[in-house]
Amino acid sequence: MNRVRSFAGGIHPLHAIGHGKGLSAGLPIEMLPAPERVYIPMSQHIGAPCGPCVAVGDHVKRGQKVGEVRGFVSAPVHASVSGTVVEIAPHLVTGGSMVPCVVIENDFHDEWDESCLADPLPLERIDAQQALSAILEGGVVGMGGATFPAHVKLSPPKGAKIDYLLLNGAECEPYLTADHRMMLEQSARIIGGIRIIAKALGDPACIVGIELNKKDAIAAMERAAQGTGIRIAGMPVKYPQGSEKQLIQVLTHRQVPSGKLPMDAGCVVVNVSSAAAVYDAVALRRPLTERVVTVTGAVAHPKNLLVRVGTPASALVEYCGGLSENVGRVVSGGPMMGIALFDLSVPVTKGTSGVLALTKSQADPGVTTNCIRCGRCVRGCPMHLLPYELCNDVEKNNWAAAEKHNALDCIECGSCTYVCPAKRPITSSIRIAKRQVMALRKKK
Ligand code: SF4
Ligand code: SF4
Repeated sequence: MNRVRSFAGGIHPLHAIGHGKGLSAGLPIEMLPAPERVYIPMSQHIGAPCGPCVAVGDHVKRGQKVGEVRGFVSAPVHASVSGTVVEIAPHLVTGGSMVPCVVIENDFHDEWDESCLADPLPLERIDAQQALSAILEGGVVGMGGATFPAHVKLSPPKGAKIDYLLLNGAECEPYLTADHRMMLEQSARIIGGIRIIAKALGDPACIVGIELNKKDAIAAMERAAQGTGIRIAGMPVKYPQGSEKQLIQVLTHRQVPSGKLPMDAGCVVVNVSSAAAVYDAVALRRPLTERVVTVTGAVAHPKNLLVRVGTPASALVEYCGGLSENVGRVVSGGPMMGIALFDLSVPVTKGTSGVLALTKSQADPGVTTNCIRCGRCVRGCPMHLLPYELCNDVEKNNWAAAEKHNALDCIECGSCTYVCPAKRPITSSIRIAKRQVMALRKKK
């Protein structure tokens, strides 16, 4: 294992190592029984939503496509159980919007679609084009939370040279341990997926970055990677180590210029769970219909669960013994970037990495006071921005100044808000600034 240096900025949130991750890091992945009904949203990715390709009353098998792409930047969605389509209608999803969902009543036969039952393809017989079309057909998206369609990410423009394929095994959000368990228990699938992706990208150097608070995962991945040329790098424990630009800097010493993409620095970054999904889609021809979700925090029994896409979040919480009495908020994802869930009927999607219950005191943002110009937000910002200045721009509705202060470079990591002693809602303000700057640019 190579050890690498950290990036400038960033923070060390409590619970990154001990109590937070410690609640579930040692717990093997358990399979959550499939629910009676799954709600498959037509949009589980960045880009154009899918259109349903089944009708109410149809019998569907597991792995059968139920939503077709309607644009290049999109990813199909598939049935996660076999059964009958009983409804196609908008349902509440994470984030609070209503999204059309195909609702399937489970027949509990778990019958796979015929297309998913072929013999596994040996990796050496898979070519780049075959891999890309299977990744598209399998509906693989970024499973670290970004949900960018994988076939798009893995199709650099003609002439662009990719030197590095970087695997994100940082899982730097406190509490979350789904990727950690995947690396421990499914390392061969991940390595298989990396080899397929590398083939699709023209065989770049492959490095898996894992934070040093997961030494057992590092050892498991090293064993699985033996003889493949894939390097495993141990990274310092710091948030947001798993953010693309920080990962690239730490693992390759390259910088992604402002407003540019990792590809512009010759890099492609893929989450480790997404790599396992690529293996399934290409070698096993099984689309993405389930994922590991960490259910943790103020629940009776924290767990890492293998969950069918479309399962209501309430089923996960119930399986973990329910919420504790002092819960103040439940979020989808981790405490730094997670999205508040006001209704646990929302379905698990391809991007759901965690369901975290925060206690009332953890959820209380505290009383906001005036900025005391302490500079902590500046020191903590991994993008070298001036968060307090951006807040001032928002207070003055000065979007030209926000653009000048590089609001669009903010990765919404929440580090500034976390360290601010005045409890200012800096990240929320900058989100507003980003929207306004985008609108301003469209008008130009
Ligand atoms: S949320 Fe934005 S401004 Fe705040 S620390 Fe992260 S990148 Fe910097
Ligand atoms: S951390 Fe908070 S109080 Fe300190 S400079 Fe930034 S906004 Fe002001």
